[in-house]
Amino acid sequence: MRDFQSPAPDLHQAEPIPAAARDAIEALLRSGDLFRYTAPENSPVALLERDFAAMMGAKFALAVSSCSAALFLSLKALGLPKGAKVLVPAFTFAAVPSAVVHAEMQPVLVEVGPSYRIDLRDFEAKLADADAVLVSHMRGHTSDMDAILALAEAHNLPVIEDAAHSLGTLWRGRKIGTLGHVGCFSFQSYKMINAGEGGILITDDPELVAKAVIMSGAYEHNWKKHDIVGETAAKWQNRLPLYNLRMQNLSACVIRPQLAELPRRVNDGLANHDYVAAQLQESGYFDVPAPLAQETRAPDSIQFNLLDFTEAEARAFVMFAKENGASAQIFGLSEDNARAFWNWQFIEGGTPDLPKTRAMLAKACDVRLPVSLTGAALEYVSSALIDAARMVKG
Ligand SMILES: *Cc1c(COP(=O)(O)O)cnc(C)c1O
Repeated sequence: MRDFQSPAPDLHQAEPIPAAARDAIEALLRSGDLFRYTAPENSPVALLERDFAAMMGAKFALAVSSCSAALFLSLKALGLPKGAKVLVPAFTFAAVPSAVVHAEMQPVLVEVGPSYRIDLRDFEAKLADADAVLVSHMRGHTSDMDAILALAEAHNLPVIEDAAHSLGTLWRGRKIGTLGHVGCFSFQSYKMINAGEGGILITDDPELVAKAVIMSGAYEHNWKKHDIVGETAAKWQNRLPLYNLRMQNLSACVIRPQLAELPRRVNDGLANHDYVAAQLQESGYFDVPAPLAQETRAPDSIQFNLLDFTEAEARAFVMFAKENGASAQIFGLSEDNARAFWNWQFIEGGTPDLPKTRAMLAKACDVRLPVSLTGAALEYVSSALIDAARMVKG
């Protein structure tokens, strides 16, 4: 048996921010120019939007305070009426249905299967009564976007992609976040690009971006400092509320130099994930759902299902894994978990009974795998998890 006395790897470790960010921040601090709209042009936030849109191959980008803010603005900018029904997968982070509630709309939760993907039968059944679709690519798992886009189009419904945790993921070689009408990303610390907080939306729709820009807090004629068509934005002047969800220049200075790091992080993240996945799968205690054929993943964590564990055994597994130095959570078994839909009691009318999602959440384990983990650390994590399962199951 392995010795777990050696120091466990830090599964919350972050990569250092590239040195180029320090130079940009130093210059910014000297100038004191922290607000995105003070400079007449080319503020760090404006440059980030240009770089990000170019990197993603999107026409427009709008940087904001969080991915949740981007989701909220997207819903508002789509012009959906108050009370509009928005389909949301029942496996996501509480902030996602919260963005729908914030936009004064009704989240309609859709079943998610054992591979963490949207259950297409339930999705289809709920489409007829829906006004929009918010696909949350939870933990970077991509649901069948071919089917989802075709079904949404057949019902003439707009699709928002919550790609908070999917930066760098591809679907048939196309970048996730560019498949729907609008894609939203997060720069919170546990995502591929770390600014502590921050978000961005991308779209090719000039009308949508013009409205989102104004509502994000481009008061008076500040929309002129965005790469958007003048007449489109001018049309909405003074006709939309200003929610003030802007990004500040400091965040953009932290984010911009990380864009060049993304391909390496994606490669390392996928290699790390696949290494641990193979070990766990081979152990016989776990099932690691495979990616869909169309999907090229960009993970910084791993999810796997416990095979034939009772609830008591599942809880013991989490305890032993923790003692071994590999902290794992089972979404449905930890108290007040923000990814367990029954805890979203803020949804008006209550949460529905969703037996498939509930069964998945009771077996699905989640372990962070920061992309900078070494081979030895990955080996430690795999062994610690397998050893914990062996202690439970004998
Ligand atoms: C992190 C995350 C969010 C929220 O992003 P914030 O920038 O913190 O608002 C939403 N959806 C998913 C899938 C996430 O992983």
